Amino acid sequence: MKQAIYLVQEYQEEKIYSAVCRFMEDLEIAKELRPELKVVIKPNLVMAKSPQFPATTHPLVVKAVARWLREQGVEDITLAESSGGLYNAEYMKNVYSVCGMKQLQPDIKLNMDFTAKTVNCPAGFANHSFHLITPICEADYIINICKLKTHAMTGYSGGIKNLFGTIPGLEKPQMHYRWPEIEDFSRMLVELAQTVNPQLTIIDAIDAMEGNGPTGGTSHPLHMLLASKDMYTQDYFAAGLMGIEPMEIAMIRQAVEAGLANPKELVLTGDPIPGDLTPFTQPDTKKLDFAGSLPGFLQKPFTLIAGKILKSYPQLDKSLCVGCGKCAESCPAQIITIKDKKAKFRKKGCISCFCCQEMCPMKAISVKKAL
Ligand code: SF4
Ligand code: SF4
Repeated sequence: MKQAIYLVQEYQEEKIYSAVCRFMEDLEIAKELRPELKVVIKPNLVMAKSPQFPATTHPLVVKAVARWLREQGVEDITLAESSGGLYNAEYMKNVYSVCGMKQLQPDIKLNMDFTAKTVNCPAGFANHSFHLITPICEADYIINICKLKTHAMTGYSGGIKNLFGTIPGLEKPQMHYRWPEIEDFSRMLVELAQTVNPQLTIIDAIDAMEGNGPTGGTSHPLHMLLASKDMYTQDYFAAGLMGIEPMEIAMIRQAVEAGLANPKELVLTGDPIPGDLTPFTQPDTKKLDFAGSLPGFLQKPFTLIAGKILKSYPQLDKSLCVGCGKCAESCPAQIITIKDKKAKFRKKGCISCFCCQEMCPMKAISVKKAL
């Protein structure tokens, strides 16, 4: 599989467009397009955040891809995403506006159809079908443009994880509740990725996020755009660029085990990888993992016990909380209430999914250290 890597120092329109033209040529994408195709771009707009903050796909990357598509004669280009939180016109108009996508009109249509459809799933561990936002179901060609980040729950967020935003609105927290364990949740993500099956995945890593991603971390620029038709192997590769051992990320390991990711077949094209990359800071939730150094027969019981002892929980900084209720809205276990304009957490029932931390606009929720 071809992995294109292009160095782009900053969010500058012409530099990004030039990189996009080069990787589209390397990957021979023009051959797959016809003017009548409905193309859907799936960005990462996890929440209403300015593009200066590295939580969401930068609008200039989307703009450059749409410009290239138009030059190939494609006219029907729609941006479709279901952010964390609600999925309706009022909510998404604000997300589009704050994330800088509104200004991309009329070259790109911003999706305003908030219906969803049931689509059969080719795999079958977690689901036999998924309920997906309608434009994804009706697309002829899907371009997945994600942001590179560390992630409090899954450890890593790239191409596979970005497709969780094809599940409409508050159905996402329900899925966290249904699969609270990381192995099960990751298996669901891999099955979802197989169902959506984007033709091309682009990773915006010009600026990326380290620490408490997907929304509470800090900037860690890689000055790169990555592109591949194989998002599974690309995630394996991108995790390595961040200094993460890819096989420690459950969704990537599962993709390798299922034969979806093939790191041995990776062929790099484009610019050389810079020699001065520094490892990304991990999220506070990352558990100490001693299991690998124990004898095989002790590893499973250790992991089960450690999972309980080392479990992390959200912790509120009341002085930062403004009582907006976004955490309560997204809590799948429904254990957060708002009292006297402050969030109140009930520890019993918490599944440590960190949806609350992800949705808090005030960074008022941190992770209570494991031990
Ligand atoms: S913790 Fe954050 S999301 Fe929850 S009510 Fe307070 S400010 Fe809003
Ligand atoms: S309190 Fe936060 S971490 Fe716990 S279940 Fe609710 S959203 Fe998930």
